[in-house]
Amino acid sequence: MKQKIVILGAGESGTGAAILAQKKGFEVFVSDKGFIKPRYKESLTQRGIRWEEGQHTESEILTAHEIVKSPGIPDKAPIIQKVKEKGIPIISEIELAGRYSNAKMICITGSNGKTTTTMLTHHILKQAGIDVGLAGNVGNSLALQVAEDPHDVYVIELSSFQLDNMYDFKADIAILLNITPDHLDRYDYEMQNYVNAKFRILQNQTKADAFIFWNDDPIVAREIAKRNPQATLYPFAEVEAPGVKGYTKDKKFIIETPNGIFSMDQDSLALSGTHNLYNSLAAAITAKLLDIKDENIRASLSDFAGVEHRLERVLRVRGVEYVNDSKATNVNSCWYALQSVNTPIVLILGGTDKGNDYSEIEALVKQKVHALIFLGKDNRKLHAFFDGKVATIADASSMKEAVDKAYHVAERGDTVLLSPCCASFDLFKSYEDRGEQFKACVRDL
Ligand code: ADP
Repeated sequence: MKQKIVILGAGESGTGAAILAQKKGFEVFVSDKGFIKPRYKESLTQRGIRWEEGQHTESEILTAHEIVKSPGIPDKAPIIQKVKEKGIPIISEIELAGRYSNAKMICITGSNGKTTTTMLTHHILKQAGIDVGLAGNVGNSLALQVAEDPHDVYVIELSSFQLDNMYDFKADIAILLNITPDHLDRYDYEMQNYVNAKFRILQNQTKADAFIFWNDDPIVAREIAKRNPQATLYPFAEVEAPGVKGYTKDKKFIIETPNGIFSMDQDSLALSGTHNLYNSLAAAITAKLLDIKDENIRASLSDFAGVEHRLERVLRVRGVEYVNDSKATNVNSCWYALQSVNTPIVLILGGTDKGNDYSEIEALVKQKVHALIFLGKDNRKLHAFFDGKVATIADASSMKEAVDKAYHVAERGDTVLLSPCCASFDLFKSYEDRGEQFKACVRDL
């Protein structure tokens, strides 16, 4: 009898997992409690894979030998509780895909910077002629690529939710950018649970594998001391320190690996800001470990176009620079945005607050920001914190109003920065929608 795999959640990862499982000879059933996008339905139907939407039929699901769960479904969901009661193993799509691939796996996680570092690393490898796939939270699912379009190397962006259901998968190169509180609602409000999920990126690694991480992150440092990882360590930091393998010194950007020492002018890096220096260091250590030629690494680090909605320069209007950082959905990423701007700032922030503590950005706001525009349905928490601390404060309830107000208070030489610290769902469909609207309004000025 065929073994049965049930896929819960039919988004990019679930659909890919179903296609791979079918190809490997399993009986496959896909179940989504919500509605499945037409293109995924088509993909499944075309291949004769059975699926349902708007419900979870227990007789189908609880007869599985194994479940592949979408990272979006929380453990608290009733169907997951039932699966657990029956003792059916639950894995993630990445775990499934890893079983059927011998490719080199480069895995990137962290609270902030994952997408930027993933895209930059992919850019360097691709420009150097490597047969590389982009997977995880970006690009096509790993499972789909393994099934239908296999590559030699994958660069994979992993969220803590994907890591949660990974067991035997091994990263050849693991990158942990940083850990700050996020998504605690999914981890019983226990920071350590979230930290443990992130550290799963290290599991199964041996001395032959690499672990790249930010040396100055206090949580990462504490965990490394506690866990004593088997992998070979490649810490990076802003400045040189004992044991650090990627750093800057005298305006040079330097990487040290067994494949030699790489260096370039720091001023030639395409991405600006300290946070992006970290992202560039992590990507460059990876490239050097894969023995990419220095001239290729140098060229790609200096011509990378950046990622939309992350400190994205939009336009200069009457001597004022407009920057879209709509993806800054937590306070820490706004901190880095403020830090990276060298002019006086008009800051647009606000939205759905995730329990934010604005004291983290207070000093930088006082030092650099002369006007704050609060863009949200409910701005009371922002007023309570910032009133009296900044010369000009205004409210806006649409992007157009926010951009118009910013335009009027900005002075030549300023930067108008959208870096909201908050999720976007009160006024926008998504952070992408918020960023698009910002850019459209700026272009209309
Ligand atoms: P993620 O995929 O982890 O959400 P992104 O690359 O999409 O990360 O960036 C999210 C936000 O965090 C952006 O506002 C970006 O400017 C900021 N950011 C990028 N890299 C870092 C970093 N290494 N540390 C802190 N913030 C960062």
